[in-house]
Amino acid sequence: MVPQLVIVPPVADIESEPKYLEQTMPVYEYSCRACEKEFELLVRKQTVVKCPACQSEDLQKLLSLPTVQSSGTRAQAMKAAKKRDAKQGNDRVQTQIEYERNHD
Ligand SMILES: [Zn+2]
Repeated sequence: MVPQLVIVPPVADIESEPKYLEQTMPVYEYSCRACEKEFELLVRKQTVVKCPACQSEDLQKLLSLPTVQSSGTRAQAMKAAKKRDAKQGNDRVQTQIEYERNHD
């Protein structure tokens, strides 16, 4: 009997790169009280948050932002992907064990 080989595409490798970028991007959304412009800003510790339109620092930080929501969703997806990767790893080990068992 010919052993059947199952080719598993390296999905985890394709997805791995963007995972690391997300965690280093503290992007917040603000609304300018002076001119009512809304904008997203990458905020680091030393960043002075200013309106790009009128340079006002009188800003309101928006809490229900699409940015936060989507990165939360991505964090969930990441968790799921990690779980799935771990499971795939186990499956591969299992397959290997069974292969060896059947061919001894
Ligand atoms: Zn403004």
